[in-house]
Amino acid sequence: MKQYLVKPETKVKLSKFDPNDTGDFKTGDFKDGKEEGLIQLDKLNGKLEELQELLFAEHKHKVLIVLQAMDAGGKDGTIRRVFDSVNPAGVRVASFKAPTAEELDHDYLWRIHKQAPGKGEMVIFNRSHYEDVLVVRVHNYVQPEVWKKRFDQINEFERMLAESGTTILKFYLHIDMDEQKERLQARLDDPTKRWKFRLGDLEERKLWSNYMEAFEDVLSKTSTDHAPWYVIPANRKWFRDLAISTVLVDTLEGLKMKYPESEENLDGVVIE
Ligand code: AMP
Ligand code: MG
Repeated sequence: MKQYLVKPETKVKLSKFDPNDTGDFKTGDFKDGKEEGLIQLDKLNGKLEELQELLFAEHKHKVLIVLQAMDAGGKDGTIRRVFDSVNPAGVRVASFKAPTAEELDHDYLWRIHKQAPGKGEMVIFNRSHYEDVLVVRVHNYVQPEVWKKRFDQINEFERMLAESGTTILKFYLHIDMDEQKERLQARLDDPTKRWKFRLGDLEERKLWSNYMEAFEDVLSKTSTDHAPWYVIPANRKWFRDLAISTVLVDTLEGLKMKYPESEENLDGVVIE
C-alpha cells in the first residue's frame, strides 16, 4: 500500500491518483478482484481485532486515525466495515460537525485535543482539525492569513501528540465527481438513506475544484513521518476498506506490542 502514502514535502496532484484503482486486486475474465479482496478483508478484520485487544491490554500506545473526504466519500462506511470486529470498549469515534458557539470561542484545536486517544485507546476522527483548512478555507470563514498559518500549527500539534506516544494515520478517501453523484442520488432515492441527504451537499458539490485544491494543499503540507497521509482510492468501497485495513494492521504490527505480565506474582497459584 506504499503507493498511496504521501511522502513528506511532495507536491500532490490528485488528478494523478485514480479513484477506481484496485491495486493488485484486478478483475478479469478468470479472476474476481472484489471476491478475493473481501476474503482478504475478512482476515484483516480478525487481525485487527487481536491487535486492538493487545493495544488495550498493553496500555502503552495511543492510536489516532483521521478520516477526511468529500461528502458521500465513505467515512461512515469505512468506520463500519474496517472496525467491524473490534471490541467497542477500546475504540471510540469522534465526529466533528460545524463548531458550536462554545467551540468557536476557543482555538480550533481545543475541541480536537479533548478527543485525542489515551493509552491503550484507538480513536477514529470522522472529520477533524483538517476541516479548519478545508471547509473553512473554501468558504472564507476566516482570512487567508489565519488559515495559512494552520498547516504549521497542525504539524506541530501532531508532532506533540506523536512524541507523547500517539501513532497517527491519516486517510483521504478519494472519490470522483461521478461517484459522488451516484451516491448522493442513492441517498435521495432510498428512504433509508434520505436522512443523510442535505441540500447543502449540492452547494458543496459546486465547489468541487476548490475543495480539491484545498485537499492538495493539506496533503502536500501536512504529510509527515510522525503523521502520514494516505490517498486511498475510494470509488470501490471494498478496496477502500481493504487498503485502510492493510495500512492499519501493518502499522499496529510494527508497534511490537506484548501482553503484559500480571502485576502480582502468580507462580504456584492453585485455583481450588
Ligand atoms: P456530516 O459529517 O455529514 O455530519 O457533516 C458535518 C458538517 O460539519 C460538514 O458540512 C462539515 O464541513 C462541517 N464542519 C466540520 N468541522 C467544521 C469546521 N471546523 N468549521 C465549519 N464546518 C465544519
Ligand atoms: Mg453529510
